[in-house]
Amino acid sequence: MSMSELKDTYNRTIDYLRISITDRCNLKCVYCRPKKTLKNFRESEVLTSEEIERIARVAHKHGVRKVRFTGGEPLMRTDITRLISSVKKIGIPDLSLTTNGVMLSGLARDLKKAGLDRVNISLDSLKSERYKAITNGGDIGDVLNAVDAAEKAGFSPVKINVVPIRGFNDDEILAFASLTLDKDYHIRFIEFMPVGCNEIWEREKCIGAAEITDKISALGELSCLEFRGRGPSRNYRIKGAKGIIGVISPVTDHFCNFCNRLRLTADGKLRPCLFSDLEIDIRTPMRNGAPDDEIDRLFCNAVRSKPERHLLDKAASPGKFLRAMSKIGG
Ligand code: SAM
Repeated sequence: MSMSELKDTYNRTIDYLRISITDRCNLKCVYCRPKKTLKNFRESEVLTSEEIERIARVAHKHGVRKVRFTGGEPLMRTDITRLISSVKKIGIPDLSLTTNGVMLSGLARDLKKAGLDRVNISLDSLKSERYKAITNGGDIGDVLNAVDAAEKAGFSPVKINVVPIRGFNDDEILAFASLTLDKDYHIRFIEFMPVGCNEIWEREKCIGAAEITDKISALGELSCLEFRGRGPSRNYRIKGAKGIIGVISPVTDHFCNFCNRLRLTADGKLRPCLFSDLEIDIRTPMRNGAPDDEIDRLFCNAVRSKPERHLLDKAASPGKFLRAMSKIGG
């Protein structure tokens, strides 16, 4: 199947699809899922592995080269290894997954064998009690074991996602950054975003990229590494360190002009922008027997609907998006 490059209205090449494969999660992180119990999608609402594979095939045909599985917690899908294997076989060169790590230790080798290229593990505190509080009951031991298991399975470098939030875990920025001194980890600090976290979102809790790098420079001279690929992460290395520190700044320094991505929710909606409620339903037409060229058309429409940039800084009241992060995938 021939691959063509797909450009949006602002001449950005869209080659990255983030697929939320479930909205279920075995943790309940305070900044990701609203406290009021979110109702999970009914099983019949969630895309089947065949439907996900079909959409990934269409995306690949239009030039998508990177696919990331996310959620909810993607490892809660019992067909995860089969799903990875079938999407990899389409010919996606870069297949990755973001996980909280709770179930990763026992699965890491199988995921690697199935064709998973990279893994990001979310970890917001190195302190056991605090981790438990942030995640509503998680055991940090599971995640630390997962980091080891991922390394042993050959996912190198292991990427660790940290969301620093003022008053929650901002006193651990240096501890996380220090992990890169001796280990080839890639620690990625992601600014706290006002999506689906209405209860705790406050602008002052978001620690901006500049403040993060400023803090980290206490550990030694920071060299700024060249952008690798077209990802949103600005990467640094502390002098003499083995690993890398990435800072992702959607709030204080948006990178919309480099945006190369589209999102697919677990219930089959294409989202052109994380910070917009605009969604294009692809599941209903698929289930009504739409032929491939109709699915193609919907996919291309979603790409063309990408806004020039998000308007978080202009929104009167950010944090009012309809979906929680756990229902989009981050
Ligand atoms: N369950 C998986 C996990 O924990 O990594 C995947 C889903 S989670 C929604 C994906 C990523 O989004 C995680 O790294 C999480 O820290 C991040 N995230 C969730 N809510 C966020 C928010 N309000 N601001 C910034 N990042 C957020």
